[in-house]
Amino acid sequence: MLSQYKFWTSLSFRIYNVNEMPELPDVETIKNELSPHVTGHQFTEVEVFQEGAVQELSAQEFSRRLVGQTIGDIGRRGKYMLFRLSGKETLIIHLRMTGVLLLEPSPRPYKHTTAIFRLDGGVNVHFIDQRKLGWLWLVDDESAVTGKLGPEPLEPSFTTATLHNIVNKRNIPIKALLLDQHAIAGIGNMYTDEALFYARIHPLKRANTLSNKEIKLLHEGIMEVLKRGIRNKGASVDTYRLPNGQRGRAQTEFNVAHRRRERCFVCGSPIEWVKIAGRGTCFCPSCQHNDTM
Ligand SMILES: [Zn+2]
Repeated sequence: MLSQYKFWTSLSFRIYNVNEMPELPDVETIKNELSPHVTGHQFTEVEVFQEGAVQELSAQEFSRRLVGQTIGDIGRRGKYMLFRLSGKETLIIHLRMTGVLLLEPSPRPYKHTTAIFRLDGGVNVHFIDQRKLGWLWLVDDESAVTGKLGPEPLEPSFTTATLHNIVNKRNIPIKALLLDQHAIAGIGNMYTDEALFYARIHPLKRANTLSNKEIKLLHEGIMEVLKRGIRNKGASVDTYRLPNGQRGRAQTEFNVAHRRRERCFVCGSPIEWVKIAGRGTCFCPSCQHNDTM
């Protein structure tokens, strides 16, 4: 395999200020793509270059405890990747803003390498993170890290009634609520904008003013845009890449996200931009009319 790193790093610097964090479809894709390469493999060496990334343990203790353990399977909870290990511990990785996990032939670190996980059979997983915001944990109990997350939107238990209960209680803009990981896990800025467009809901509309019909459409929209994102292997508008260095394609099917000032595919109006809960939000002002304002 040829190194994709040079290509990746030059591109990511060019679009550095886009600032989109990997979301559920992106993390799910990394999990799916990484799994066949690492499942059943044993850690032979773990080198941490960015010690602040390791939560609660020292970097030395983290590495020492990982070496010798075998990866049983990889799970996901929200935007957290869960590597379940033979020693009953779980390695948890959160990519935050710019983290990527690349399968790289090189055993040596690159400029922004946070950690290298070397596995038996010559497999090297590089955790590369330009902004150095990513998190690593090694825990006995996953719920100590992921316990407070809201429901998983692609689980069968996430029904229209679940969403109804979540939105009903909150008098905040629906966009802000959907970004709250304690309300629903895994959805972030891009897929929220897409789900709200699907349901034709204005992002500033108060959550507790949504009609039953809007809640039903939003539920449908959340599942649809997340599944479409996974089918397209995530959205590479920023630094997100697959473990082989390739780009995801979800951004090519976005209706509003990252389409500021472009024409709405449905009505032709220019897509508008507004900041909500600190995040740049794109929506169509005529398709997503706010009847509560
Ligand atoms: Zn429109």
